[in-house]
Amino acid sequence: MKPMMPASDQAPFDAGPILEAAQETRLTPMMAQYIEIKAANPDCLLFYRMGDFYELFFADAEIASRTLGIVLTKRGKHLGEDIPMCGVPVERADDYLQRLIASGNRVAVCEQLEDPAEAKKRGGKSVVKRGVIRLVTPGTITEDALLDPGRANLLVSIARVRKDDAHWLFGIAAIDISTGSFVLSGADSDGLAGAISRLDPSELLLPDALRDDPEFTPLWREQTCAIAPLPREGFDSTSAEDRLKRYFGVATLEAFGQFSRAELAAAGAIIAYVERTQMGSRVLLRSPRSEGPGSLMEIDAASRTNLELTRTLSGQRKGSLLATVDRTVTPAGGRLIAERLSGPLTSLATLAMRHDAVEALVGNDGLRSRLRQALRRTPDMPRALARLALQRGGPRDLAAVQAGLVASAAIATLLPAECSEEVLSARAALLALDPELATWLGAALDDELPLLKRDGGFIRNGFNPALDDVRLLKDDSRRVVAGLQSGYAEQTESRTLRIKYNNMLGYFIEVPQVAGERMVQPPLNATFVHRQTMAGAMRFSTTELGELEAKIASAGDKALAIELGIFDELCTAILAAEKPLRAAAEALAVLDVTASLAEIAVDCGWTRPSLTLRPEFHVEAGRHPVVEAAVRARGTSFVANDCELGSGATAEEGRILLVTGPNMAGKSTYLRQNALFAVLAQMGSYVPARVARLGIVDRLFSRVGAADDLARGRSTFMVEMVETAAILNQATARSLVILDEIGRGTATYDGLSIAWATVEHLHEKIRCRALFATHFHEMTALSKRLPRLHPVTMRVTEHRGDVVFLHEVIPGAADRSYGIQVAKLAGLPATVVARARQVLQELEKVERASPALRLVDDLPLFSAASMSLPHAEPHLPDPLRAAFDEVEPDELTPRQALEVLFRLKTIRKD
Ligand code: ADP
Repeated sequence: MKPMMPASDQAPFDAGPILEAAQETRLTPMMAQYIEIKAANPDCLLFYRMGDFYELFFADAEIASRTLGIVLTKRGKHLGEDIPMCGVPVERADDYLQRLIASGNRVAVCEQLEDPAEAKKRGGKSVVKRGVIRLVTPGTITEDALLDPGRANLLVSIARVRKDDAHWLFGIAAIDISTGSFVLSGADSDGLAGAISRLDPSELLLPDALRDDPEFTPLWREQTCAIAPLPREGFDSTSAEDRLKRYFGVATLEAFGQFSRAELAAAGAIIAYVERTQMGSRVLLRSPRSEGPGSLMEIDAASRTNLELTRTLSGQRKGSLLATVDRTVTPAGGRLIAERLSGPLTSLATLAMRHDAVEALVGNDGLRSRLRQALRRTPDMPRALARLALQRGGPRDLAAVQAGLVASAAIATLLPAECSEEVLSARAALLALDPELATWLGAALDDELPLLKRDGGFIRNGFNPALDDVRLLKDDSRRVVAGLQSGYAEQTESRTLRIKYNNMLGYFIEVPQVAGERMVQPPLNATFVHRQTMAGAMRFSTTELGELEAKIASAGDKALAIELGIFDELCTAILAAEKPLRAAAEALAVLDVTASLAEIAVDCGWTRPSLTLRPEFHVEAGRHPVVEAAVRARGTSFVANDCELGSGATAEEGRILLVTGPNMAGKSTYLRQNALFAVLAQMGSYVPARVARLGIVDRLFSRVGAADDLARGRSTFMVEMVETAAILNQATARSLVILDEIGRGTATYDGLSIAWATVEHLHEKIRCRALFATHFHEMTALSKRLPRLHPVTMRVTEHRGDVVFLHEVIPGAADRSYGIQVAKLAGLPATVVARARQVLQELEKVERASPALRLVDDLPLFSAASMSLPHAEPHLPDPLRAAFDEVEPDELTPRQALEVLFRLKTIRKD
């Protein structure tokens, strides 16, 4: 999704000129109306309906013309200045809305509330009644054209209450209006950023005091979504309770579960905002559910980014874990798998249920493929339902529900009566649907459907006799007229009688003068009423013809009215069945996710993890799902690795693996794959390993040293330390910590000391499971002192001076860093590589000569003497030698070798 400009950055609407203008006597009535409506919606761009256009004026017009690239014109004058204006055609309003919303604006849609003819009746100067019917904001849209099918569109509100003098508690409410989900959760100051990044909102509502609190401004600045600061009074937990009770029509909220005060406050504010933006249209929200403290694995914002869970570091979905595991075939399934992956669970029982369901489908290829085939035909039912409830639905939404019902029935018959609990409850939800509704909708809806109901033509012929009649009349009007014409011709004995039409007379009968003379006489004048006499012809009308005309003229309107009536009936029937329909839609999404996870498990050879509550972590032959796919695409195979972070059968504490090895050897891949196992297992997925026994992780941390963050104005090292501090303060014995090259962003000794102290703290104080990759080989000495610190290294070999990465993790420490070989692989000029080798040899010589300088075996660290750099003799480069070093014999053809020889002969030594 495009980064949005925070709404708070919008040019604030200046009410001053408006108020002055309101007093200006020469204001046209229309402008006076505009100004009144705009003053009531100062924080929105006002789409002011005028005929077939929505017009924008003043600063709104300037913002819209800039954002949309449309022409700015002017209309009339205001305080002596031209009024800037621009407009968008109503027909294409969705497209323009989408662009305005995506750039962080809110839009108030102001419609004409009466027929302009009505206004005229009140006098020439009367202005058509208008009113705002809806506020369109990034978090409250429902139109398919404005939404991304695979992503939830969350409106999130945050309230805070004091815990004690020094701490706040936060309540977070998240609503997806397009599907009706409504979830509450809580967080403390440390967990707030992580909770927001898990939800990935489209719009964030905050009390103004929180928005302006300097402690949190960096957090708001980081958000890419629109932010709406609201008066703090709106975040009051007591009035929130009443508001929620009213909204859900219940006497007490107890049935929905327990909510904290902060959660209630956030929920009240979000409901008020929904009511305000939807202007009385009722959003079908599910009753709120609190996630409850500790029910989700906490992953902070930096770790999410780092592990590339739903987006890569460059912000793309492709290449993320989500993109790799998502094999869902429906939009609702796509949204659910993203939600599960972003919020892994900690409940063993629920996870067992999810894993059982995946297992059932892993073990039945036929069922899985039939199920996925049937799911492919299911439309986006939750979003269609939401639109219908908001009176914003169209014929295609009815069809979506019908197709959903048909697919549900088909899928219910596919599912066995004996299966895992989750599959069975999905089946029960599908079976609870009323098959009559599908039949009724199927009979009513035509095969080709317009997007908008006002276009008509969506009800099938033969469904409603009255509609058939009016359609017959309209479509067959020519035939009916022809029938009348021949009847009249016979009656008047005039073979040249014709029925014609013009705007003045409408339908009329035209006959030659002679016949006309007869028709003004009895008995024919009882039927035919003379209207006009022309040169050689006379014109007549009849009551019958008048009636026919009226019928034909109103047939179109009538047909549409009947169709709209049927639409409302169908819509009412659907909304009456809203609960079971929603449950079925959810069941389909769950089945889609389950089948998708089973599919990847079978396809890529994943295994069911066994989960426990003890801090275990035993993985055999584990692979990184994303890197494996990339490596495979290059035609090589991925090397699987084991990982043991449990410290024994009885111990309740984790192990730390200290991973050393050269750059590019696969350290980061190894670290991350193990973090991803925790995420995958706790979202309910299988994992890419031969065996995985994992203890539930309550918090997952993943950090990479030295990520530059100049945008936030902090040095690399500062960022590293802030993030490391967060881990050391928040991790528990049940956490999993991944630290990759911490301490790299500062001087060697500082960095080594910090890395050292960090490992000690993790081992001694936190006692959690951790993987720690470092290029400070000196750290391996720590393993002699810390019993649960195990050094492992990436196996490499050398081949003719080049390093070869085997990507295999083995016990022990790296003997060297192979930095120079890696630099050579990276294409550093051969002269530089050669010179580096030379310097290295010198350094090693110095170290061998004064073993006291070695840090490795010497504890405590801080007493170590500083190591002096060797003083290399400055000497002039030997051109012959340099040219010789550039030669790569392996890469030369015999002829080239000969040429090199000749060239070397020509080099002089100066
Ligand atoms: P390091 O962190 O040690 O610098 P990376 O983990 O970034 O190394 O790995 C570098 C590259 O090596 C990866 O992009 C991948 O192509 C390859 N690689 C890493 N691990 C493996 C593996 N287990 N099997 C095969 N290729 C691997």
